Amino acid sequence: MISLLALVLATALPAQGQTPGDDRAKPPPGAVVLFDGKDTSAWVHRVTGEPCAWEVVDGALVVKAGTPDLMTNQLFGDYRLHIEFWLPLMPGRSGQGRANSGVYNHGRYEIQMLDSWENTTYQFGGCGAIYGQKDPDQNTIKPPETWNSYDILFYAPRFDDAGNLLAKPRISVWHNGIRIHRDIEIEKSPTTAGLEGPQPSKGPVMLQSHGAPVRFRNIWLVPIDD
Ligand code: MG
Repeated sequence: MISLLALVLATALPAQGQTPGDDRAKPPPGAVVLFDGKDTSAWVHRVTGEPCAWEVVDGALVVKAGTPDLMTNQLFGDYRLHIEFWLPLMPGRSGQGRANSGVYNHGRYEIQMLDSWENTTYQFGGCGAIYGQKDPDQNTIKPPETWNSYDILFYAPRFDDAGNLLAKPRISVWHNGIRIHRDIEIEKSPTTAGLEGPQPSKGPVMLQSHGAPVRFRNIWLVPIDD
């Protein structure tokens, strides 16, 4: 009886690290750890290719104003990404000026990060938006100076052997555990300020440097094989 109960519990409960939006979801087996609170060696700066100049403060990676965006030196195709972010309180700023950053999938497709707590902005520009295309299904942001999480399921674009686009990239996003996009086809390549050039089948994860000292922690990615 006890063993049956244990079996039921084991199958009903998600494995540790597998729950989208779990505040401190641990990297599951097979994950590529991109930032563990200390090591920034997975990252280089856009354009310059120089090592990460952003500082680690209390286990968080902090955007340094005046530096280019930060991107992984490893490229990925399809994946599940977990990232936690902390938005500073910037009461003197409004709209897009208030704690702006973002995570670019393949360096091209931005899921916006913005202090959208009691701060409005234009359509398709708030926190959780597929920037320039679609607002989140709901605003699930936490107040500034608290930790948020994104869990992103990203499928790369598909091409035929001649390089013709067969399928656009697709994305699902959970913000603090609540799904805000469900398998949405991404129309633009790139979204604003993403990497330019032909649309690739693999790319980096990129964090936007928009001047605000946004913090990141616990960043990991699970590649999905075809
Ligand atoms: Mg942004």
